Amino acid sequence: MNTIYFHIKKESGKPDQEEETAFRQAGEIIRSGGLVAFPTETVYGLGGDALNPESSRKIYAAKGRPSDNPLIVHICRFEDIRVIVSRLPEAAVKIAHAFWPGPLTMILPKSGLVPPETTGGLDTVAVRFPSHPAARKLIAYSGGYIAAPSANLSGRPSPTSAKYVAEDMDGRIDVIIDGGEVGIGLESTILDLTSDVPRILRPGYITREMLDEVLGKVDIDVTIIDPQSRQAPKAPGMKYRHYAPKGKLVIVEGTPEQVIRYINTHAETDRLSGEKTGVIATAEVLEQYHADVVKCIGSREDEEAIARNLFSILREFDDDNVTSIYSESFPAHGLGQAIMNRLLKAAGHRIVRL
Ligand code: AMP
Ligand code: MG
Repeated sequence: MNTIYFHIKKESGKPDQEEETAFRQAGEIIRSGGLVAFPTETVYGLGGDALNPESSRKIYAAKGRPSDNPLIVHICRFEDIRVIVSRLPEAAVKIAHAFWPGPLTMILPKSGLVPPETTGGLDTVAVRFPSHPAARKLIAYSGGYIAAPSANLSGRPSPTSAKYVAEDMDGRIDVIIDGGEVGIGLESTILDLTSDVPRILRPGYITREMLDEVLGKVDIDVTIIDPQSRQAPKAPGMKYRHYAPKGKLVIVEGTPEQVIRYINTHAETDRLSGEKTGVIATAEVLEQYHADVVKCIGSREDEEAIARNLFSILREFDDDNVTSIYSESFPAHGLGQAIMNRLLKAAGHRIVRL
């Protein structure tokens, strides 16, 4: 398959004839069962018609994703949610009011219109109303319901720019819409509203504290906080090994001095035994590391930058053929909870506590 590329300006707010034609064309491709990768405010998505079982099957095939791992359905107007859910609880309306359009996905009971292929056989559906103008435009031109997981091959870090989508998807899908780098860089928060107390199944940019404020109290899936838990995660996707770089990644937690000393000692030992070594470092202590490749993930003062840079850094280590990677650790509250969740998954939960 020959993948077509459309380039759009980052802020596609103003009408532009050429872009409009591109969106219309991409929308028609989705309506006729094709696949289009597109930017959202979180990461790039791989979109197909959510109401067409054949499109969902194609998404799983293009990603190499197990078909029991359900897709998120993206809409571009709040009222469209009524078509795909069988019940709309008051809490969902409140959450939509507070956080939509934006990086928040709700799990609700599905209507008969959503095929089981899209929900991995579950009787619930994941719904998101993204804020990115290109995503909204594409959804509108596609008929209103786009099923879209992240546009990476299964197991690889989610793509934060079209370059990474192309790396994984060129030749496997019809279109890639290139809208530059995304703003947030971590996937949406997933909130399950089918249980008595709403529960976070995947942490993201919308934090537990923000959700607590709107709903009074939300729970968090134990498998997120306690990786040793034997319980199966309620978001099926969370059980898979994810975001993994090709090299072995170890997270190191302790005081800055302890962490620097540990990483430098171990990186040196690894280097002597033939490994290519890498470090994920914060700006404040960057200069103090010695390894083959030292990457700056951002300042400790700027969690949003850390979130935005994480997945691209993991991919860059692959490009550099780094085989042994050490990362600093981050406090797991607020946005840090999402950062540590992704970092721990990438590390296969290898963490050294000093
Ligand atoms: P991705 O699109 O790559 O961000 O992955 C979508 C995530 O949403 C996966 O972790 C899925 O397991 C989760 N998800 C989608 N639909 C549901 C659902 N109905 N119930 C629980 N989790 C879901
Ligand atoms: Mg994904």
